[in-house]
Amino acid sequence: MIVTIDGPAGTGKSSVARMLADRLGFEFLNTGAMYRAVAYACLQRQLDLASEQAVGDVAHSLEIFFSNNRLLLGNEDVTEAIRGQEVTQSASIVAANPVVRKRLVELQRIVGQGTNLVTEGRDQGTIVFPNAECKFFLTASPEERARRRQRELLQKGEQISLEELLEQQKLRDLRDETRACSPLKPAPNAVVIDTTQMTLVHVASHLEQLVQQACPAALPR
Ligand code: C5P
Repeated sequence: MIVTIDGPAGTGKSSVARMLADRLGFEFLNTGAMYRAVAYACLQRQLDLASEQAVGDVAHSLEIFFSNNRLLLGNEDVTEAIRGQEVTQSASIVAANPVVRKRLVELQRIVGQGTNLVTEGRDQGTIVFPNAECKFFLTASPEERARRRQRELLQKGEQISLEELLEQQKLRDLRDETRACSPLKPAPNAVVIDTTQMTLVHVASHLEQLVQQACPAALPR
C-alpha cells in the first residue's frame, strides 16, 4: 500500500510522513533528499546547473541510498550537507531537469515495489504513484512555512531573517509550480490539508485516521 504526501516546503511533510510511517509500520521515503543529493553532487563538481546533459549525467551516475535514516552518496554520508542553503536553492533548479526527474522517478518506483510506503515530495501522488491508495497534499501560509524553516535553521546555528526566507521560498515555489515537467500541484483525488494552525503531531494523527478509514483492509496487522 502506498500513501503519498505532497506539498510545498515548510508544510511539515517530512516530519509528518516520518511519523505516519512509524505509526503504520510502513517504510518512509523522502524524495526531496534525492533531488538535494543530485544538486549537492553537481555543486561539488562545480557544474553549470543549467546544463541539462551534464546534470542529467550526474543523476544517472550517482549511487543514492537511504540507510537508517541517513542518505548516502556512494560511501559519503551527505545527510547534513544536503540541508544547507545553497543546496536548498539549487535542488529546485536541478528538479526542473527532465533527465534528472526521469532517473529519480525510476528509483522511487523501485523503492515502492511490493512494500507499504509513506512517500513525500512534490509529484508522488500525481506522477510517481498515480494509483496510490491514499493521497494527501499539505499546505500552510507562506509566513508560517518561512517561520518553520527559520526555526529549523536556528537549530543548526544559522540565523536568517524571515524576509530573506520568504523571498527564497517564493522563488522556490515559483520554480516548483511552473516547471514544465511534473509541476507541484495536488492530485485530483488528494485530500488537501492546511497545516498552518496545526502541530505536526496533530497532522500525523489526522492522516493516520484518514488512512485507517480509507483502507482498513489494506493495513498490515
Ligand atoms: O522537500 P525538499 O525541500 O527537500 O525538496 C527540495 C527540492 O526538490 C524542492 O524544492 C523541489 O524542487 C524538489 N523536489 C521535487 N520533487 C519531489 C521532491 C522534491 O521536485 N518529489
